Amino acid sequence: MELLKGKPVADRIKEQVAKLAEAMLDEGKIATLGILRVGANDSDIAYENSAAKVANTLGIAVEKYIMDAKSTEEDVLDVLKVMNEDEKINGILMFRPLPKHIDEDKVRNHIAPEKDVDGISDVALSGLFTGNKSGYPPCTAEAAICILEHYGIEISGKKVVVIGRSLVIGKPVAMMLLEKNATVTVCHSRTTSEDLEKLCKDADIIVSAAGKLNTLTEKHVSGKQVIVDVGINFDEEGKMQGDADFEAVKGNVSAITPVPGGVGSVTTALLMYHTVMAAQNV
Ligand code: NAP
Repeated sequence: MELLKGKPVADRIKEQVAKLAEAMLDEGKIATLGILRVGANDSDIAYENSAAKVANTLGIAVEKYIMDAKSTEEDVLDVLKVMNEDEKINGILMFRPLPKHIDEDKVRNHIAPEKDVDGISDVALSGLFTGNKSGYPPCTAEAAICILEHYGIEISGKKVVVIGRSLVIGKPVAMMLLEKNATVTVCHSRTTSEDLEKLCKDADIIVSAAGKLNTLTEKHVSGKQVIVDVGINFDEEGKMQGDADFEAVKGNVSAITPVPGGVGSVTTALLMYHTVMAAQNV
């Protein structure tokens, strides 16, 4: 079993980002990521701090816009307008989900497409569906593909099962895999457990983004699978785990990404890459 660690993939991307950011600094410009957080969700704050740390090491500036969870939709749209119009800000990362009283679909579509470095607006998503590549792909979906490509895992012609159909990961990663000529099956919470087992056992690659512990067990693998585990879950002891029961599947798969240490670090590196690209397009 090959362990598909995220670090070498992230390091390669970061190396490229650091070079691009340095070249910009030589011209007196600094790529800047604007972070918009509404409320104080612990996992958002943790991601925000780690993204700021990574940005700092790569020569990318971060500007944080922190809003109270009780902010109105108009307040959030006003702040987004400021961020959209601020020429210093090249990319915008907006944490989701937004508080329930805010129409997230409306707000995410107010991010200027050229600053939508996490690919959450309809413009970016439609680029994936039509193949015209307008906008940046969602970082986590792209991270799954980058890991497969970095480790030389063939996608074209392979049977891929994607577990999850959210706009954040499931649907975009399915479209990206299709674009790379995989035969893609998308499973979700209404897929019967019997079908999920059968489809996974027959798959060459499984991208799991269900966000549920033990979605993949020994029943889902038959020795040949490459598993990209996107899930972030916490077990009863508070330990971070993916969707796969790692101990149960590791002896009967061809390769698997660890959690932590897999998709997450690549996601952050790609966010920085998109930010530098956005800064260069100014
Ligand atoms: P989400 O919006 O909750 O979507 C989960 C999807 O999984 C849904 O489509 C759901 O089906 C499906 N699903 C749930 N339980 C299932 C089951 N038992 N069998 C088959 N399908 C099932 O979550 P998300 O935003 O896509 O995120 C998914 C996971 O990725 C989460 O654990 C999240 O924390 C993690 N994540 C990781 C990163 C990273 O960088 N590593 C970044 C973002 C998110 P229905 O549509 O039928 O409800």
